Amino acid sequence: MSYADLHLHSHYSDGTFTPEEIVARGQKQGLGALSLTDHDTVEGCEMMASECAKVGIEFVVGTELTSEHKDNELHILAYFVDPKNERLLREIAKFQIVRQDRIREMVAKINALGVPLKAEDVFALANCKSPGRPHVARTLVRHGQCRTLDEAFERFLKKGRPAWVPKSKMSALEAIELIHQAGGLAVLAHPGLNRNDQSIPDLVAAGLDGIECFHTKHPPGTSQHYLGMANKYSLLVTGGSDCHGMSKGKPLIGTVRLAREHFDKLKAAAAAKKISTTNAHQ
Ligand code: AMP
Ligand code: FE
Ligand code: FE
Ligand code: ZN
Repeated sequence: MSYADLHLHSHYSDGTFTPEEIVARGQKQGLGALSLTDHDTVEGCEMMASECAKVGIEFVVGTELTSEHKDNELHILAYFVDPKNERLLREIAKFQIVRQDRIREMVAKINALGVPLKAEDVFALANCKSPGRPHVARTLVRHGQCRTLDEAFERFLKKGRPAWVPKSKMSALEAIELIHQAGGLAVLAHPGLNRNDQSIPDLVAAGLDGIECFHTKHPPGTSQHYLGMANKYSLLVTGGSDCHGMSKGKPLIGTVRLAREHFDKLKAAAAAKKISTTNAHQ
């Protein structure tokens, strides 16, 4: 039975929905469990948890950490972390500053191309601590500098385009450790998008717990490939839509669903981890 959407973004990072809207849409889709996985923040989790509780949906605290391994960008999903864990909050705050500085750099590059844009306008539109390229793109569209978000990415923001700025990231191996010390499970996000399977053994050696086999941008063959990897390395299986709001007139939420069987295994692993962490601290 399909049950959970465990990859969702809200306006606390580069999504457009509020946590309330996500939960209302999740409920309409008949989902039993949701996780909020905003980029480098857990800010929206408290609100999302209380909305889920109101309608009887299981909620999993989450975040998607931007990290790198051997010069490849990898996104590590953190599930069941303590949203008040001091070290986690301290580390993600550093990367939020990196994101804010990067917005200023991108805007300066866009200005140098003769296109007027103010960093303040991007921050006002983003209205969150974890701004990213989509906020720059949306501001360019709102101010009539680009017709579409795609155009903004193609002209300025994609890797290799003139306003692209690399982002300093935490190491993926450190991200796994950071998640574990916050009581959570570390899951490799959308491996089919990054296509660096060669990193997986290193991540597994560092304690990776799971792999996102089901994702909007994974065709069935890709999901099967990563289910094989999960089996080979004894990893938990996760999945989600990676909904950032409306996409081509429709919300993605609920279009990719994780079976109950996989969700229950994830929950059991998180519970086992919490028990062993508590014992270790006694
Ligand atoms: P950032 O974290 O600032 O590097 O921005 C990455 C985010 O930009 C991703 O999570 C997507 O939401 C979005 N994104 C990346 N590439 C594109 C693209 N070509 N068109 C639209 N959105 C994109
Ligand atoms: Fe995003
Ligand atoms: Fe991602
Ligand atoms: Zn995502």
